[in-house]
Amino acid sequence: MTTTLDEKTIELTIDGKQVTGKPDETVLLVARRNRIHIPTLCNHADLEPYGGCRMCLVEVKGVRGLTTSCTMKIAPGMEVKTFSPEIEQARRVSLELLLADHPLECLTCAKNQQCELQTLAAEFGIDRIRFRKTRDYHPPDESNPFFAYDPNKCILCARCVRTCRQLQGLGAIDLVNRGTRTIVSAANGVPWVDSVCESCGECVSRCPTGALADKQRKQPLEKIKTTCTFCGTGCGLFLGVRGNEIVSVTADRTNPVNLGRLCVKGRYGNAFVNSPKRLTKPLIKRNGKFEEATWDEALDLVARKFAEYRGDAFTAVGSSRGSNEECYLVQKFTRAVMNTNNVDNCARLCHSPTVSGLTKSFGLGGGTNPLADLHGAKCIFVIGSNTTEAHPVAGSLLRRLADNGATLIVADPRKIDLTKHADLWLSQKSGTDVPLLMGMARVIIEEGLHDSNFIASRCENFDDFKAVLKYYDLDTVESITGVPKEQIVRAARLYATGGPAIIIYSLGITEHSHGVDNVMGVANLALLTGNVGKPSAGVMPMRGQNNVQGACDMGCGPTAYQGYQRVNDPEIRKKFEEAWGVPLREEPGLYLVDFFNQALEGNVKALYCVGMDVAYSIADANRVQEALRKMEFVVFQDIFLTDSAQFADVVLPAASFAEKDGTFTNLERRVQLIRKAIEPIGESKPDWWITCEIARRMGARGFDFTNAAEIMDEIARLTPSFAGISFARLEAGGIQWPCFGPDHPGTPRLHVEKFNTPTGLGHLSPLKYRPSAESADEDYPFILTTGRSLYHFHLAMTSKVPGLMEIEPEETVRLNPVDAERLGIADGDMVRVTSRRGALDVRAKITDVVKPSTLHMTFHFYDQPTNVLTNQALDPVSKTPEYKVTAVRIEKVPAEGACSTMAKATEGGAGNG
Ligand code: SF4
Repeated sequence: MTTTLDEKTIELTIDGKQVTGKPDETVLLVARRNRIHIPTLCNHADLEPYGGCRMCLVEVKGVRGLTTSCTMKIAPGMEVKTFSPEIEQARRVSLELLLADHPLECLTCAKNQQCELQTLAAEFGIDRIRFRKTRDYHPPDESNPFFAYDPNKCILCARCVRTCRQLQGLGAIDLVNRGTRTIVSAANGVPWVDSVCESCGECVSRCPTGALADKQRKQPLEKIKTTCTFCGTGCGLFLGVRGNEIVSVTADRTNPVNLGRLCVKGRYGNAFVNSPKRLTKPLIKRNGKFEEATWDEALDLVARKFAEYRGDAFTAVGSSRGSNEECYLVQKFTRAVMNTNNVDNCARLCHSPTVSGLTKSFGLGGGTNPLADLHGAKCIFVIGSNTTEAHPVAGSLLRRLADNGATLIVADPRKIDLTKHADLWLSQKSGTDVPLLMGMARVIIEEGLHDSNFIASRCENFDDFKAVLKYYDLDTVESITGVPKEQIVRAARLYATGGPAIIIYSLGITEHSHGVDNVMGVANLALLTGNVGKPSAGVMPMRGQNNVQGACDMGCGPTAYQGYQRVNDPEIRKKFEEAWGVPLREEPGLYLVDFFNQALEGNVKALYCVGMDVAYSIADANRVQEALRKMEFVVFQDIFLTDSAQFADVVLPAASFAEKDGTFTNLERRVQLIRKAIEPIGESKPDWWITCEIARRMGARGFDFTNAAEIMDEIARLTPSFAGISFARLEAGGIQWPCFGPDHPGTPRLHVEKFNTPTGLGHLSPLKYRPSAESADEDYPFILTTGRSLYHFHLAMTSKVPGLMEIEPEETVRLNPVDAERLGIADGDMVRVTSRRGALDVRAKITDVVKPSTLHMTFHFYDQPTNVLTNQALDPVSKTPEYKVTAVRIEKVPAEGACSTMAKATEGGAGNG
């Protein structure tokens, strides 16, 4: 048989075998592809070749001596020998020298039977060590709660150092000292936990020996493939199971989302599943106290009481932590059984502006491209997204791409981590994104950098859009945003001319009283420059929670059934009435925040809240809690007895993601399977089972599902964009919706030929600047912004992970050194932060990450519930509160004067979106 070789193919021989490769490929790579064994230690498929361990020595004809095959590039006609007595001897000596310095404690080592050094010692049949130990003893660094570094087991292969630099883009560790004293160390020799290390464990997962090893030592007996339950990135992972316990987490290298990477939460945050604090039995409140009940007692009571509130006195919250199937059932139950459209989910607090804004601009409320498209983007514009903390695996990719040549523009009021890797940082004042984006648009048009062909053929409303730009001369924009006009010009030029370009945004754009305008401002830039509907050009909203995209897709909102099929469209409603066999309501329901406002008015009386901490995550939390107290019947369904659940009449114990089958949809619209790894803890049950049981006990039909796959089949039947999705297909990997039939491959990129708008054209939005609802004044001279922490998500989950609590045990308020000095506040002092709605005492952290006159807090802690301060000023379209701009004052609390305006928490925690 003859093979046709293209001109770039290189022919060579390895051990007499004719093989081929491409320029830039190494001898090692080609040998491995041809199943020719060459031993290695420092080499790793994810990392640049290093040539340090000298185990991969080979002989190349014409080259003097032996050479490292991991660094040797192939060449035409090259003749390589991988095995000879000389090669064997050289490798053996290298191995023996390593072993001479290595403690022989294999049986008690965490990596016993997984150690690559041990494997090679067996391969080479080494039965004694001929050399003397040369290296000094170094004490292990055990400062990190999740893993330890033992320099005495380290073979100095630098896989960990290269992982941190090349994959994480961090460079937290390096080889230090010389000769026999060389070890791996964090910068300046500080304990690892005090360095910039993000505890992702990527170095641990690539360490060939026990030098870097997890402190949790139990080995799994089985590994179950599933999807991460924390953020919306949707990383693939394996839960390692022993008995009914999760003892390890490893990354899925085949998952296109994370390609074998995980962050600290994904890898080490799943200890919450087996926490002894899990809810194990239903609870019924009697005489103000929760008492354990049987499932029959609890479900019968819930069904009987819910029946009293059919209609608009009833409200329901679907869980963005739950599966698509469970979200679908919550909205079906609300609409078909309770006869109201009063159903919503936590996207109302975060990315509802994305759904509204991108639907107006592009016709669909989802991210336009797969994350993999970032690799081809020449310019990445990150605005209002602290990606490295909120979506860490995507964030580390951004660091890496920027370090490798992509242009990175960051627009953020704070000096976030990504600004260190950016070509340009625009530090706009909080709440001034519309003028910033419109100012950039004006520069693009004035300088003729817009894509006229794309605008003419693919967009509408250009003239109206242009007309409004007269309000955005750069002097005005500079004075509103605080960004020097030269920087605005530079950003506009870089974005418009340096494509293909992707815009990444998140809650810094959406959580405003003009969040929808902000989103449309982002979309305008993409349309103007033709950066949408193409590979590596688009708009990526970074959805917060694991399945917040899915909760929206599945109809947990007051205006639409799943797949964004509107409830007030008669044809659509008729379809659902026929499918579900009941009359359905035409008028849209209440939005989440209004559930509680209407409860205070006496109009809403009952709540079914699945997996959301409503009492602490909605702005102006005191008001929400007052509403919860006023409601007549409240049911919480969760995995822990959260502080929000304290307001319930009945609490139903739910199974976690590890205890059930289902699907999550990530921020790229990728629907992925979660799989049951262990049995539900205690008597907890999957959310879908609980909702079905309540419905059945209320006499409803259409809730007789026996597994999650059957629910997805019903979703597919009723949802054009999910028509081709089934569990059977998802076994082969995730599918990005829309997926219109069993043979449809799904849609990695949206809007390639036309937009989903009624006209098929992208809509340019002429935006007018509306200031935030509050601004700093004499009484409240600071602006407070909020955001996520790398180490927490929902404290209900992450507070049950001792290591995460050890790294970040409490809320802090960050303030600039200039303000701290002026107010006499030192790092760690207790301060009182007061807004028009509430006050709380919290520890100060002095940092120049925030600008003078601004403060920053997360929203993860019950003890310091930030949302007692935040403002319920709503975006008029999406009804999302303005979390990002709250006028506050700050003052030092005398030691004896510390107090809290909120009742102290008992368990768990909150989280926006
Ligand atoms: Fe999980 Fe998000 Fe971390 Fe990925 S980046 S491992 S999805 S928390």
